[in-house]
Amino acid sequence: MIYDPLVDNIIPSNQPYPDSAWVSEEKKQYPKLDKDVETEIAIVGAGYTGLSTAYHLATKYQKNCIVIDANQPGWGCSGRNGGFVLPGSGRMSAPQMTKKWGEVTTKLIYQEFLDSVNAVDELITSGIDCQRQNGGYIKLAHKASKLAPLHQQLVEHSSTYKDAIIPLSQAQVKDEYLGGVKSAGGIYFPNAFGINPWLFCHGLAERVEKQGVKIFGNTPLINCLDKQNANAKQHVLFTPNGKIHAKTLIIASNAYHPNKLFPILKNKTFPVISSILVTKPLSSEQLDLLKMREGLMVMDTRPMKYYYRLLSNNRLLFGGRGAVTGKRANHKKYRTILENGLLETFPRLKSVEVEKFWSGWVNISYDDYPRIYHDTQQNILYSSGYCGAGLAFSVQAGKRLAQLLHEPHTLPKLPFWQSELKTYPFPTMRRIALHGLYALTKLRGS
Ligand SMILES: Cc1cc2nc3c(=O)[nH]c(=O)nc-3n(C[C@H](O)[C@H](O)[C@H](O)COP(=O)(O)OP(=O)(O)OC[C@H]3O[C@@H](n4cnc5c(N)ncnc54)[C@H](O)[C@@H]3O)c2cc1C
Repeated sequence: MIYDPLVDNIIPSNQPYPDSAWVSEEKKQYPKLDKDVETEIAIVGAGYTGLSTAYHLATKYQKNCIVIDANQPGWGCSGRNGGFVLPGSGRMSAPQMTKKWGEVTTKLIYQEFLDSVNAVDELITSGIDCQRQNGGYIKLAHKASKLAPLHQQLVEHSSTYKDAIIPLSQAQVKDEYLGGVKSAGGIYFPNAFGINPWLFCHGLAERVEKQGVKIFGNTPLINCLDKQNANAKQHVLFTPNGKIHAKTLIIASNAYHPNKLFPILKNKTFPVISSILVTKPLSSEQLDLLKMREGLMVMDTRPMKYYYRLLSNNRLLFGGRGAVTGKRANHKKYRTILENGLLETFPRLKSVEVEKFWSGWVNISYDDYPRIYHDTQQNILYSSGYCGAGLAFSVQAGKRLAQLLHEPHTLPKLPFWQSELKTYPFPTMRRIALHGLYALTKLRGS
């Protein structure tokens, strides 16, 4: 059982990190807020979004802010993801974006995605040690009909992508990148890289603190009086041991805040579980069967995607869908589903020993793309709806949130910050629909 944002009314605090493959050493424990404070800007959530926002507010705009988290930095997705640093967010393909917004905007979006990878790269290069693994990323067509649309987007946008995406034939995938998996080919992103996401999040937190920003851990926001009342001059944020008075509220809680906590976000996202398993170190015989290029990361084109990478200690990380509810998240059935998925993907392996299994909530927006939004009347900003692809993008989103607050006219013209997240039309049906989708996918066997 894990905390469930659609069921629980308060996020648990002071929780240990999940037993993932990432938590490797003691890190600083940020103290809880224990008195009333006043600040210009309060940020809720110490994942990449919140920390990157604080970093840019402090470094670019010399703004005073504080960051609170119900737990320690990286307790949410940012400390438990797969560590794929990729150019992308949301769930729309390039052809879908072109259809909706046209070619010029799609190119700008793709540039933003590339910039987000560069933003992570710059932070790491400037001294965040997070076990970086270069090796690129393949989007793998799991059957022939999925290859043409992947390659088509390269033909349509070759001038934008230049050498940032390379088409791969079936034979190239097999001979040069990944021999142990059946595929029809794919596309390769050479600039993508893997990291230990938990170490990266802590490195970012240390950076932020060095800028004089106060980070409070184990400090859940349990209620807030927002500025819906036009006469109110400040937000009042209630935590168990102190109130925060803030002119501006920035919500960086991703899928993790209780659904009813923020009226501005109620029923605007759908928390869905993604789970990961990590094997024991593979033997040299097993590694020969994988035939996987060092550092390579892969995600396939199934409706319920699998993603995997070989870690530097020869452990295989394999992720995919999890349970529908928090109550069932740790049930052994879901670990077995993922284990079976791994063995179906790598049929030559026959068996593997699993060492770690954990889950987290990703945040699906109704129309499949994220939003970075400023409600100027209430003075609330949020960035949300990354649809499970938010490592690099959330770092960039932090920069954009700071910019949206202080110099919005300088933002590139992208649909991401021109509208609010859409409300799910039948919010109570979300989980029933997800159950249906999982059952249908199982029936179709894809
Ligand atoms: C299993 C899994 C694998 C993934 N793999 C990848 C990947 O490989 N690549 C990729 O690009 N993306 C991946 N993602 C998605 C990616 O991790 C997220 O998009 C990203 O980390 C979001 O960062 P964030 O800062 O917005 O949110 P989070 O890191 O989730 O942080 C939100 C924080 O808000 C805090 N919070 C919530 N409510 C409150 C409250 N009321 N009071 C105080 N604090 C509160 C939480 O404690 C939490 O720490 C994965 C996600 C999961 C779950």
